[in-house]
Amino acid sequence: MALEGYHSPQVDVAVRLNTNESPEPPPEAFRRRVAEAVAAVDWHRYPDRGARALRAALAAHHGVAPANVFCANGSNEVLQTVLLTYGGPGRVAMVFEPTYRLHAHIARITGTGVVTVDRTRDLTIDPAAAADAITRRRPAVVLVCSPNNPTGIAEAPGVVTRVCEAAGEAGALVVVDEAYGQFARWSALRLVDGERPVAVTRTYSKTWAMAAARLGYLVGPTWLVERLEQVVLPYHLDAVTQIAGVLALDHEAEMRERVGRLVAERERLVAALGSLDVDLWPSEANFVLFRPRRVPAADVWRGLVDRGVLIRDTSGWPGLEGTLRVTVGSPGENDRFLEALTEVIAAGG
Ligand SMILES: *Cc1c(COP(=O)(O)O)cnc(C)c1O
Repeated sequence: MALEGYHSPQVDVAVRLNTNESPEPPPEAFRRRVAEAVAAVDWHRYPDRGARALRAALAAHHGVAPANVFCANGSNEVLQTVLLTYGGPGRVAMVFEPTYRLHAHIARITGTGVVTVDRTRDLTIDPAAAADAITRRRPAVVLVCSPNNPTGIAEAPGVVTRVCEAAGEAGALVVVDEAYGQFARWSALRLVDGERPVAVTRTYSKTWAMAAARLGYLVGPTWLVERLEQVVLPYHLDAVTQIAGVLALDHEAEMRERVGRLVAERERLVAALGSLDVDLWPSEANFVLFRPRRVPAADVWRGLVDRGVLIRDTSGWPGLEGTLRVTVGSPGENDRFLEALTEVIAAGG
């Protein structure tokens, strides 16, 4: 079967609000310390294969043991390792569509079948339908994205708990992708314990403003982390990435402030969009999904590009017809977006 690649267009415009990156870089002090530490790297030696300093720092950050932490080159590599370990021919992964397209994509790349469960009309997961599908379809892995990309919606704690219960009974592993976890009001990290097959993935790409570094990780039971370490390539995580990951955690306060500023900007964006002729979905992430009511989404997207603003065209995704997704940028970028969108809608495209 031919697979379509994953493409997020990198168009050259002034305001890029299409890939959910942080509009601000990480703190200057962090960048200086990384540069100093990188200057002292033993370039002729392999990096620490067990990423011990990084896993210890993340474990302290989350109040778990280092043996509960698995690190990789972005949370996408974490998911790929999970699916290489637990998926493969004859096994299936379950996803709740519409959701992050890389979940199904990575599953297929690893030869894992994909079982799709549709979300409800309000784009949340129906816990009874999810539990029923898990019991009937017996997936090896259940992937839950919360807050969900591209909708921004966070599942209620009771929904994720119900999914974990059903999966536990069916012998399935649940992975909650929390790429946007710190933007949300609750985290599934509290459902992770030493035994049950539940894990949470996080990334440095969004809230930590470090998309350039390629670093993500999973918090889960020890038995899971041990299996993943057996499957992932040796020395996959280079010395520079490990250094950056450790030092970033010393700047948690700045991360929390940055996330706070973005949440405030998100609320400003939502309020402004609310006064335009668009439908909106509630977001607990750093982006907002909306649907222009009168102007076709493709025309709005093109009109914005013509005005130097790039957002994500999600209108072709099944279940998301007519929608667009905008990343929360800096206050200036958000103003440029709102001005351009107001113009485009008034002009009819
Ligand atoms: C951006 C994003 C990621 C991040 O992937 P990395 O490989 O860590 O950069 C993971 N999951 C979702 C849902 C995302 O939107």
